[in-house]
Amino acid sequence: MEKVTLHDKQFEPYISARELDTAIDAVAVRVAGQYADKLPLFLGVLNGSFFFASELLKRLPIACEISFVKVASYRGTVSSGTVSQLIGLNERIAGRHVVVLEDIVDTGNTITHMVESLQDHQPASVAIASLLLKPEVYKKSLPIDFVAMEIPNIFVVGSGLDHDGLGRNLPGIYRLVER
Ligand code: 5GP
Repeated sequence: MEKVTLHDKQFEPYISARELDTAIDAVAVRVAGQYADKLPLFLGVLNGSFFFASELLKRLPIACEISFVKVASYRGTVSSGTVSQLIGLNERIAGRHVVVLEDIVDTGNTITHMVESLQDHQPASVAIASLLLKPEVYKKSLPIDFVAMEIPNIFVVGSGLDHDGLGRNLPGIYRLVER
């Protein structure tokens, strides 16, 4: 793995594709064990989760479904802060065991809004699986049930994660080189 330049920034290798594979193997074993007879509905949050979704699902020898949603954030007209809306949720959620798939959980704002929106649809359960988690930043009470790897508070790209549109296709994870 070599350094890469994306737009104006340099990134250096941080986690190899092989290390990620091993970490995702372990998550898959846990998910398969917990959802074997539950016909889970996986909901990947676009764009970043496509890599994790595909890597996780190909390791699951259980009956399951997958769909993808987008989270659109916009400022409310009143002082309500940022409002999030789920786009593309066409599946019936009521009574289903839902596992939300994320590329990375940082502050947790995105995933918290998403889970709150999902609860309105009366799922049987909602769990969260994320490829990466920044525990130093994440301070919400919502549990992140399945995490492939924890990282410190750095900016990373690769394996679905981008810098301004670039880098999602890089195998493994690269970190920003601070100058
Ligand atoms: P949160 O709402 O948890 O603060 O942030 C979640 C979103 O912020 C992620 O889905 C991702 O789009 C973006 N994000 C947070 N940290 C990183 C990072 O280190 N690298 C990249 N590429 N995106 C990040």
